[in-house]
Amino acid sequence: MPVTIGNVQVGERSYPRSTADIPHVVVDAVEYLAQCGFRAIEYNVGGWRAWLRGGKVDLWAIAPDRWLPVAQAAASAGLTASSCHSVDSSRGRPPAESVAEHLRVLDLAAALGSRVVVMHLAAEPTDFTTRQRLDAALQFDLAVLEAVAEAAVARSLRLVVENLPQYSLRYWTLVVERLDHPAVGYVLDTGHLHLRPEADFAKIIRQLGPRLWHVHLHGNHGLRDEHLPVPGGTIRWPEVFAALHEVGYEGLYLQESNVHPSGEPPYDPPTERRLLEESRREIERLTQQAADRAARRQAG
Ligand SMILES: [Zn+2]
Repeated sequence: MPVTIGNVQVGERSYPRSTADIPHVVVDAVEYLAQCGFRAIEYNVGGWRAWLRGGKVDLWAIAPDRWLPVAQAAASAGLTASSCHSVDSSRGRPPAESVAEHLRVLDLAAALGSRVVVMHLAAEPTDFTTRQRLDAALQFDLAVLEAVAEAAVARSLRLVVENLPQYSLRYWTLVVERLDHPAVGYVLDTGHLHLRPEADFAKIIRQLGPRLWHVHLHGNHGLRDEHLPVPGGTIRWPEVFAALHEVGYEGLYLQESNVHPSGEPPYDPPTERRLLEESRREIERLTQQAADRAARRQAG
């Protein structure tokens, strides 16, 4: 199975100051990633919004046709535009408002040639001490996802729902199971999983099985969401890759680390480039090691 390793971009490397800045900043980022040896890109639309907040610009508000130069740059650099990362929903607003934002991200994803859109459940911490609270959260997340999933199908896109540290794995899988939509699967985020007390990588990867369509790879030391490049932190990486191999995972291996320590500009380009390249090589080594070990077990 060919392994495609991608990187999340913009929000990490490039800091557009205005909408006029965006296409050329992103074109630059795309070319840079290809030079670092990546084969795919996830456009971090949610991240872009944060960096642009000072300018009061939301990325999905930019007309999809303005993204054409980005799609062309990715294609000529040989990068697959694998995915777009959507924005956070909020239970503090009616579901329709979150849906409207996600639909604009879907249009952007389609314009960029992505196949997958990464979705978070509502950003608020979940406090499920009462049945009522659980039901209210479920109702919100299902309403948003159902509407966005139908819109995704109409654009030949699939959705993947990501685990976040603030909600339990039980809640995450409950939402996707209840939804039971053919265009909705899982993205497993390794760093977020490592922050949950119930984290057992092999068990969870087996449980998600054929519905696991996407992974976000980054590490931490189990205390906060550091987004360290692989193999940083205390995750037992060989076990993660062995389990992915075991379930026949065929999606992208997306490195989602912060490559500058503070997570904020200014960044240090030589260090960033070294960390990106090392992380890519390490992911390659770990996928190869998992395949080799499985082959040896089969032979023996
Ligand atoms: Zn992630």
